[in-house]
Amino acid sequence: MTTDKPLQIAVVGSGPSGCFLAQALNRKRPDDIITVFDQLAAPYGLIRYGVATDHQQTKSITRQFDRLFAKENVKFAGNIEIGADIKIEDLREQFDVVALATGRPNARQLDIPGKDLDGVYTAADLIYSLNSFRGKTDVFSTLGEHIVLVGGGNVALDILRFLIKEHTDYDGSDVNDDALEAYLGAPVKTVTVLNRSSIDEAKSDSAMLRELGSIEGVRFTSNHAPEEDLDEKSAAARRRSAVDSLVDTQTSAPRVEVAFRFSTAPEQFLGQDTLEGIQIHEAETQLRSEIYADSAITAVGFEADDKSPIYKGHEDLMRITEDSGRIEPGFYRTGWLKRGAVGTIPANRACAQGVAKEILADIDENRIHDTAEKSGLDGLRHRLAEEPISFSQWVLANEKELNLADVNRIRKKFVGQRDIIAQATTQN
Ligand SMILES: Cc1cc2nc3c(=O)[nH]c(=O)nc-3n(C[C@H](O)[C@H](O)[C@H](O)COP(=O)(O)OP(=O)(O)OC[C@H]3O[C@@H](n4cnc5c(N)ncnc54)[C@H](O)[C@@H]3O)c2cc1C
Repeated sequence: MTTDKPLQIAVVGSGPSGCFLAQALNRKRPDDIITVFDQLAAPYGLIRYGVATDHQQTKSITRQFDRLFAKENVKFAGNIEIGADIKIEDLREQFDVVALATGRPNARQLDIPGKDLDGVYTAADLIYSLNSFRGKTDVFSTLGEHIVLVGGGNVALDILRFLIKEHTDYDGSDVNDDALEAYLGAPVKTVTVLNRSSIDEAKSDSAMLRELGSIEGVRFTSNHAPEEDLDEKSAAARRRSAVDSLVDTQTSAPRVEVAFRFSTAPEQFLGQDTLEGIQIHEAETQLRSEIYADSAITAVGFEADDKSPIYKGHEDLMRITEDSGRIEPGFYRTGWLKRGAVGTIPANRACAQGVAKEILADIDENRIHDTAEKSGLDGLRHRLAEEPISFSQWVLANEKELNLADVNRIRKKFVGQRDIIAQATTQN
């Protein structure tokens, strides 16, 4: 392959990994045409639909991607599902380079007896609705007064923050107000946070724990024992200090009580059809006991959507690896799809930059041998039932979301893809 003619590059997925990859490639090869496909009409993946609605600072990273898509050679093709609307093989025929950045969007289910009882939810059931990805708000009014939250990472803390916050704590957010109102009509009184790991091995960041301290009217307790011999600069020491200061905060007449239970694992969700309680096991004491719960929310990780047609006949693409992002010269993957559902947005930048280096080396060292002329997106339009949503169309929908924001909200998101498409494709 000659490297002086502009190449056609397809990136599948417009989450942070796909955007960081497009950014890195565009910097080195600004004349290449990069098309970033997404099955959704709106770009940015979990930045838009996963990151908590009260963390707008984190979401604001999309501004640098907006600047990327403003470039003539970087195109967004929304509402195109690779695997369903266009097969991977067809994509590879029309593009010199194809890179997958399709993420791992499905909440992992906690595989213990009773997991299918009514009243057992996953983090995604709440987070995707709060982020207006889905219109379902029924769950929010029926969570009940006593909730058990299973999980010790930052997503569990996002859920905890949601459960204990009040109306005014959402100022400046883009929370789905139907969901919020439904929840705050009957909010929680107690939250028990079960963490299988000890406090020293927990996955949560101390900054996220400290943030909980700014919420009024909450009393925190924790079952962790003191430990003197820790390097005070270690993550474990900072986490302990954050939990200790939450516990030390004096709160008279609290609205809600939060109990952290480290080294404690759920063994069984109890009840006939509906959840009534949870059997737990404490590692340090080896004691088993039952706790009452109106509902349980599990936040125990995310995994690939193995039902997605993109993986049919390509199951290997879901295999997690820390090694190369190269599947073969001309075909790559990056982000959560490659590394598994671990790591924050910045970790995807490093990952995408590494994969970009591999792509650039394969181009420079002539390893991509298919010399046939590539037409990119234009060569595939005849296969599509609908025109892709372009970036300028998305900008139109985005502006409407910003303009429709209620007082104290940064935007009012359109719920559902059809609604976004309608707004993106009409001027008024
Ligand atoms: C609930 C939650 C909260 C989080 N909060 C934070 C946080 O506050 N700060 C932080 O730094 N990190 C946070 N993270 C982690 C962060 O979201 C991930 O590191 C990051 O989104 C992974 O990027 P990705 O591009 O690999 O995947 P994704 O963001 O999931 O993007 C994948 C994209 O691919 C598209 N796609 C999938 N299949 C297809 C297909 N067949 N055809 C076309 N398009 C397809 C999807 O629609 C999506 O847009 C959070 C994660 C979760 C789950």
